[in-house]
Order: sequence, then structure tokens, then C-alpha cells
Amino acid sequence: MPPIEEPQDDLTVTPPKTWAAGVPAVAHALEYSLAQTSPRRTALTLLNLNQDGGIDCPGCAWPEPKKRHKNEYCENGAKHVTDEATSRRVTREFFAEHPVAELAQKSDYWLNQQGRLTEPMVKLPGGTHYQPIGWDDAIGLIAGELTGLASPDEAMFYTSGRLNNEGAFLLQLFARAYGTNNLPDCSNMCHESSGSALGETLGVGKGTVSLEDFYEADLVLVVGQNPGTNHPRMLTALEQTKHNGGQVVAVNPLPEAGLKRFKNPQRPSGVVGRGTTIADQFLQIRLGGDLALFQLLNRLLLEAEDDAPGTVLDRVFIERDTAGFEAFAEHVRRTEWAEVLEATGLTREEIEELRGRVLASKKIIVCWAMGLTQHRHGVPTIREIVNFLLLRGSIGRPGAGVCPVRGHSNVQGDRTMGIWERLPEPFRHALEEEFGFAPPTEPGYDSVHGVRAMRDGKVKVFMGVAGNFVRAMSDSAVTEEALRRCRLTVQVSTKLNRSHTVCGETALILPTLGRSDRDVQATGEQFVTVENSMSQVHTTRGRLDPASPHLLSEIAIICRLARRTLGTGGSIPWEHFEADYGLVRDRIARVVPGFEDFNERVVLPGGFRLPSPVNEGVYRTGSGRAEFSCNDFTSLVAPAGHLVLQTVRSHDQWNTIPYTMDDRYRGIHDSRHVVFVNPDDLDELGIEDRALVDVVSVWDDGTERRLEGFRTVSYPTARGSGAAYYPEANCLVPLDSVAEASNTPTYKGIVVRLEPVAGGGG
Ligand code: SF4
Repeated sequence: MPPIEEPQDDLTVTPPKTWAAGVPAVAHALEYSLAQTSPRRTALTLLNLNQDGGIDCPGCAWPEPKKRHKNEYCENGAKHVTDEATSRRVTREFFAEHPVAELAQKSDYWLNQQGRLTEPMVKLPGGTHYQPIGWDDAIGLIAGELTGLASPDEAMFYTSGRLNNEGAFLLQLFARAYGTNNLPDCSNMCHESSGSALGETLGVGKGTVSLEDFYEADLVLVVGQNPGTNHPRMLTALEQTKHNGGQVVAVNPLPEAGLKRFKNPQRPSGVVGRGTTIADQFLQIRLGGDLALFQLLNRLLLEAEDDAPGTVLDRVFIERDTAGFEAFAEHVRRTEWAEVLEATGLTREEIEELRGRVLASKKIIVCWAMGLTQHRHGVPTIREIVNFLLLRGSIGRPGAGVCPVRGHSNVQGDRTMGIWERLPEPFRHALEEEFGFAPPTEPGYDSVHGVRAMRDGKVKVFMGVAGNFVRAMSDSAVTEEALRRCRLTVQVSTKLNRSHTVCGETALILPTLGRSDRDVQATGEQFVTVENSMSQVHTTRGRLDPASPHLLSEIAIICRLARRTLGTGGSIPWEHFEADYGLVRDRIARVVPGFEDFNERVVLPGGFRLPSPVNEGVYRTGSGRAEFSCNDFTSLVAPAGHLVLQTVRSHDQWNTIPYTMDDRYRGIHDSRHVVFVNPDDLDELGIEDRALVDVVSVWDDGTERRLEGFRTVSYPTARGSGAAYYPEANCLVPLDSVAEASNTPTYKGIVVRLEPVAGGGG
């Protein structure tokens, strides 16, 4: 295969697309796949993708329907899995050729395109290059560091949503048997706000709806979410909502193609026809205006009930299932139109139109993603959405409920398996009963606290199991410096990424099996399991020969590390767990509620759905009822001469990794160094379209963070609301800028100014 060149930054802009998917999506997926690997491996991978007994897409966590299409995946899913199944390889010769300092200068794109990692590598103290190390020595090195620490809390174990259920369960078991709850995960950076708000108000930190609910809903509100890029098969569900007579309303600062029109490549009408209009109404809201919108909507519902008693609110449900209604109603009646119009940038007519749609709907689903969770007031916003649904009784009934849409395949499952810096008492007790040791009770570090702890020298060993922590976290310079202060950094990975170039004194790369790789252990071929966004637990089984004979599964790595660190004589049979993943599932069945008969049920077609207590009318809250809450909003309006900036993903990217330098749907080609600005804002700022600017964020303590040499792109985003790509713009988010209660970095609410670069033109 030809060597990978660094992409040239050569921006061209075409009009944004007005529809998503269709034939071009299929063509792009195939083009990318065939550039990565052979037609045979492409076919083997794609024919098994998202099929019963096949490979679960490592992309987002959108569920599969009961009746599956033979091509049950989207453009991005095809890219994700063939990106992993690539035939390119990163060998010891590659590392000998490229010193770490050189790799650190390479782009995320270039690093990813080098291919699959093939053997364990170590960078020793003072060394300039990674060099090969045997598995035994690598595991021994980590165990030596861990056993030498003054306290287990000087280590932390990060997880991304790629890790399967069994691996996640074993990782938290190992960390807790070792003695720490330092288990930050990528949830800390994405849906922590959802878990926090839903746990408080409904007693469970997950969504309540199933795919079938989308087919029955009268109204689906898609808020702060771009399904066309981040959860593309969700468009198929929304298309079905429309076909069944339901309506869809999109609330977003950006007019995304997937929210406008969807050409379903699985239907003839999507191939040759006009496709389906998705959003019946598009509310182009300002960044951070969602709480104000829902608060006003709730006031309007109360007033509509006043006008026609007994026709708007679900009084029976409110009486029977909820608490706190009176205080909430009193609070929300004080919401002022003028303040809401300022915070949202919407018109009175737009909000009244939405009110009309809500009043005409009995079964309502609200979906959301990072556009809500990554704001300072992400948690109160989601609490207010719960208020909204409770008023209409749209919780716990078919066709209605909450739907936080997860962007990474097993991020929800990892949390179910106990990956959390907080250890709930029932889980702690169950672990103690099952394994006979006393897990630590003190909360550990989440991602933000973990960076602070590394920065301050309190954490000395960082181990990342999957993911790209350095790139995913906020305040990139601070995060990188924190990692560099560690005695040891360990990255368990399939491919090269930026985190491998940010080394502790000693750094290890441990290459692992991907989703698409066959996993054979001492007792034979294994499968693992995942949980999707709608709490369906099912198997995933790799079909390809592993990228190298020297790879270990994550489970094997964790088990071997546990044995070396904790010794072999304890009560946890790590060796047997490594040999037979079914034994891990037997233990999960005894520790985690809802997993009874795990091994038997998970191999049934489609697996099984975890119980949703809310749908049974059970609320594990303090009052035993669904809780109304009182929330206050403040307008996120930037001072004069400034914008509020959000980070967004391009269509041709997955999480931290761009697959090309394009963002097809938004009309951006050959560059990621752009900042989208409303044309009227550009006028007001006196800056031209395509001008070269530095993007500078300003933080409360007077410090500034700078992104140099970006081009402005005049774009129809909401007034005052700019956008730049994630992860490039993460450096602008101060470490201390976090959401209340959830501690999630505020990637969607950064106050910035644009500083024209002399001679940067337009
Ligand atoms: S919708 Fe998500 S899970 Fe499904 S194929 Fe696309 S990326 Fe993968």
C-alpha cells in the first residue's frame, strides 16, 4: 500500500447539503473501505456488520431493529469497521524510523492511517523512540509500578466506549481489588450530564425508550443532536416515525443535512426519489438556549391547562407518579418571554408553533446528545426536559420517553458494568459478596479531576484501555502536560493516535484485538457483549484473522495484569476468566441486576433488553416518584465582539479521528482549520469570509487559550453561535470550565474572540 502523506490544508467551500445519505453515502463508504483493505476483507466485514451473531459496529450505540436489513449499517459504520479492519500495519521498523518527537508533530489523520499496531512497544525514560517489548515484560513493568506506588489512588484506569462488557467488568474489578475507584471514562466527557439529571429525576441514568417507541410516537424532538453524522441509522427510525404519521422537530444552532431530508439507501425511493423530509419544524436556537426554551414551553403548557382544565396536563399521572409539581409550577410560571427570546434567539411565532405541535401530541420522545450535555447548565436543561415530559405523562408509556443518544458503541454498557469513579453501595456490596474483598468506598477521579491529579503529581500511573484520552479531553495543553508528568503511561489500543505521542517518563503501547478480529483463547473461540443506547445487550463476534499474531484481547491484558499485580492466590480466578469469557458473564450475572442467566439469554437472537424500572412505574429516587425540579437559566450571550463557540464533528470523522479532511454535508473540503460564523456576525465583527484568524478563548481567571491560523467560513449557524471542529478546538476549553453537577467539559459553550491575522485576507 502506498505511504500515507500528510494532507494539504487547502480549503474550498461548497454550499451545505440539504439531504443526507442516499447513493453518495454508499459510494463514500465503499471508497474508504477499499482504500483500507481488500475486497474480500471488506465484504467479510460488512456482511457481518450488525447482523445477529456478527460484528457489532464499533461506531455509535444506535440499536438494530428486530428485522434486520442485510446491509444494516450506515456510511460511517462501514468506515469505522473497515478503518479497524485495515490491511496497513505499524511495525517495530516504523517506530525505529519515527522518533516520538516526530510522531507528536503528525496529524490525527496521519497517525490513524498508519494502520493497526502489531506488538507491544515501550518508550523508556530518556528514550527518543518506542522499542519492542515482550508481553511478559510489559505486564511486569506495569505491575511493578503499581505495586510500588504509595497508594492505589496514585493510579488511574481510563476506559473508552469501545471496551466490551466483559472487559469493562474485569477492569473495574481489578481496579477495585487493587484498591482504587479511579475509573474515569469517556462518559465523563459526553453523557455524564444525562446520567446525572435522569438519575436525580427518574432514578435511572439511562434512556427509557426502545426503537419501537419511535414508530409509535406522535412527536419526536431532536435537540442538540446531529443524527445524520453521529448516529446515522437513527434517520431510518425518524423516517418510520414520519411514515407512521408522527412529527419531528429539530432544535439545533446548525441546520444539519440529516435533519432536513433523508434518502434511505435501503429503499428504492431513497435511491432514485426525493427521500423523506425529517424535520417538520427546525428551531435554530442559540448555543445554550435549550433550558430557556423548555422552561417557557412548560409555562405555556400550564397556561394552556388553565385555559382548558383537564385537557393538557396528565393529572392522573402527575398525581400518582410524580413529586414536586406545585413548587415546579410556581417556579416555571415566572418564566419571561423576553428573556427566553434573548437566550434562544427564536421568535415568538416559532415557539408558539412548537407549542401547538406539543398540544396536538399525546406521545412525545425527546432525544438529545452533546448539544445539551456539554454546557455549563447541561444537567438542569435535561431536568427541565424531564419536567416537560412529566407534564404530558410522556414517560413510561409506549411511544414516549427520554432518549439520550450515545455516540460510542458500548459507553452505556461500560457504566452498567461498574466503570464509574463513584461506586454505588449496592454494587459495592455485590462485589464484596461475590469476590470476597472489600472494595474502596472513597470516590475516585473522573476525567477532569484525573487531569488535575496528574498535573499536581497525585496520580503517577495512567492506563487507558481503548480511546484517545489526550485528544478527547478539554484544555489539550494542560492535559498533555499532566500525562507527561506521570511515571508511567499505558495505552491499550488498536491503532496509533495522539495519546501515544504524549508519554509519561516510561510509556507503553499495548496492541489489542479489534471488534472485527477473531478472539481465540485456551477454551476456544470467544465472543463478547455490548449494550446499546436502548439497553439491549447482545453479542459481538470478530470474523477476521487478527491484525497480528502478537495481539492480546483487552480481557487477556487485564487478567494478566491483575495476576501479576495482585498475585495468583486470591479469590478471583483471573486465569480462568481469560480462558473462558462465559465465566466472566456468570459472575456479571450474579453482581449486576438485570443480567440473570446472562450466558443463556445473550445468545438468543437480538440478545435481551435490560429492565427499565421507569417503564414499570418504579422510580428509584428519594421520594420513590418521578421528581419535578426547579431550574434557572442564564442567557449564554457573549460580550460584544465575542462569540459563543461549540465544537462539532465533521461528517468524515469518528470521535477524535478524521477519516478525510472533508466535511461533506457542510460543504467543507480539504481543511479542518475553519471556524463557522453567521454572516451577520462576521459583518458585525468586521471580519471577512475566509479571513485568517486566531480563535482566542477567555476564561474567568483572565487566562487565554489560542487556536492559530483558522479560516472563517460564513455559514448559516445561529447568531452569536460559532463552531469549530473537535478535537482541534478542545484546546480552547479550560479544564475548570465544566457542567454543574456532572463535571463534563463545556465543549459547546466557549466564549471566544476572533483575532484577524495580519495579511490573512479574506
Ligand atoms: S448508526 Fe451507529 S452503530 Fe449503526 S452503523 Fe452507523 S455508526 Fe454504526
